[in-house]
Amino acid sequence: MAPPTRFWQTTPGRTFVGRLATGSDLVEEIERVCAEQGILAAHVTVVGAATRAAFAYYDQEKQAYDELHSVAHHEIAGFIGNISLRDGKPFLHAHCSFGDASGGAVSGHLMRGTVVFVAEVTITEWTDISLVRTHDEATGLALW
Ligand code: ZN
Repeated sequence: MAPPTRFWQTTPGRTFVGRLATGSDLVEEIERVCAEQGILAAHVTVVGAATRAAFAYYDQEKQAYDELHSVAHHEIAGFIGNISLRDGKPFLHAHCSFGDASGGAVSGHLMRGTVVFVAEVTITEWTDISLVRTHDEATGLALW
């Protein structure tokens, strides 16, 4: 049975704005900053460019990610994500569009292995909320 629609009310907390080191891993660096600052739930946006893009498509029949990557240089043309807790640690869930030299794009669920060329990051903390990911039977995903 599909899980019901659920919403939580939250209050904006601290806002962090920063630039990630060139050559760092986009996912790992955002999660590291969140752990360092004690950010347990947040909205995350990024604008920048990557020297390697790692992303995935979730096959809903197989309930497994098909991992993709591109070693072309890309604009980070779209990035929306959130932070919640998974296994007790800040976990980034983000979807990203990577633009190439022709103006075309590849996109998907952001994976570790995306290498930062430039990343200007905004993290808006959500307070008064506890978002914890657990296994969801219906989708095979770790969801709130
Ligand atoms: Zn996803």
